[in-house]
Amino acid sequence: MLPGVIGLVQATETVKLLLGKGQSLVGRLLVYDALKMTFREYAQRRDPRCALCGEHPTITGPAGAGAGAVAAAATTAAPVCGLGS
Ligand SMILES: [Zn+2]
Repeated sequence: MLPGVIGLVQATETVKLLLGKGQSLVGRLLVYDALKMTFREYAQRRDPRCALCGEHPTITGPAGAGAGAVAAAATTAAPVCGLGS
């Protein structure tokens, strides 16, 4: 059941992002406690040392992708986490 609940949340977030509708979870961590049947939200701040969205990112493309795919992703994709950009 747990993968179904979390999968539904992830699918809903994906549809919202694709449609540009609603309020996404960007900048928030959603924690689900199945035993208590509760959801809690925690605000997340951008880490300037983050390898993905920090001031000097070292992750700049999909793992295992060729140089061409990495270059294409870097020029066409929005920042992965969307924080602070
Ligand atoms: Zn980050």
